[in-house]
Amino acid sequence: MTDIPAPAIEITNLTKVYKGGKRALDNISLTIPRGQIYGLLGPNGAGKSTTINILAGLVNKTSGNARIWGFDIDQNPRNAKNSIGIVPQEIVFDPFFTPYETLENQAGYYGVPKDRRRSMELLRAVHLEDKADAYARTLSGGMKRRLLVAKAMVHSPPILVLDEPTAGVDVQLRQQLWAYVRELNAQGVTIVLTTHYLEEAEELCDRIGIINHGRVITDKPTRELIAMAQEKVVQVTVDRDIAAAPDAPCFEKVELSDPRTLTITYMKDRANAGQVLSAVQANGLSIVDVVTRDPDLEDVFLHLTAAA
Ligand code: ADP
Ligand code: MG
Repeated sequence: MTDIPAPAIEITNLTKVYKGGKRALDNISLTIPRGQIYGLLGPNGAGKSTTINILAGLVNKTSGNARIWGFDIDQNPRNAKNSIGIVPQEIVFDPFFTPYETLENQAGYYGVPKDRRRSMELLRAVHLEDKADAYARTLSGGMKRRLLVAKAMVHSPPILVLDEPTAGVDVQLRQQLWAYVRELNAQGVTIVLTTHYLEEAEELCDRIGIINHGRVITDKPTRELIAMAQEKVVQVTVDRDIAAAPDAPCFEKVELSDPRTLTITYMKDRANAGQVLSAVQANGLSIVDVVTRDPDLEDVFLHLTAAA
């Protein structure tokens, strides 16, 4: 028998009904392989934080199972907890501790012996070394979030989960955060992040799961997901004003964006750009410029969430 390592996270038929009756998760199953950067995507209220908080032991599930690094969260909660570091969506801190103390306290909580703690190293990694002794309440929002990332890593877990890590973080800090996340991933840490920014997921993630209304809509390698977008858009500028948008069988949708520009949507499995442009010319229009747009996750996302 070969010894296949357990997935980083394995969620089976997980359901959460909050007090008051809100069904936040409706029987979701997801497998997150080791070694990846995995994106859990979904609009606000989809159930992302509920999923993460169940893994973190902050929310009790109603039914179903979850395993972290092979450890069942009910049967082996201690090992499960030790295998994961979580950066929660909400920033919560004891304002009276310095960043250095915050990390030392957290290390103590996880029973990391003094000689194996790496508080300064972690502060350096998140660019907070010069704030080591500042009060946490004097940190900016972006600094606090980076401190939370360092805090999640004190026990060197093989999985790091970031729940909406870039909400309220400026572009430069976002880049620094991603650089660090990529570095951790290169060192072998499995990364899970939730976001409702599609571009972010598209840029960073090897694999993407989309949830909506507490259900899994899709779970695929990023490239496959993008390939699923069948809609293509081409913007055609012509040499004179158009009174009404022309139509053709190969157009899925056509709009007059300004008097000389047509925005035409077509399905790439049924037509190609050449046919679309010929159809424009067949209406007696001369083309002076063409801009095409590739499908991105937004198209897939809209398509899939509309169908669900
Ligand atoms: P996401 O993180 O994807 O935005 P959440 O997991 O936070 O979604 O929320 C999923 C659903 O559960 C939402 O409808 C939300 O209002 C509801 N919800 C979240 N937390 C609670 C709670 N503590 N009590 C009741 N309902 C909640
Ligand atoms: Mg959330």
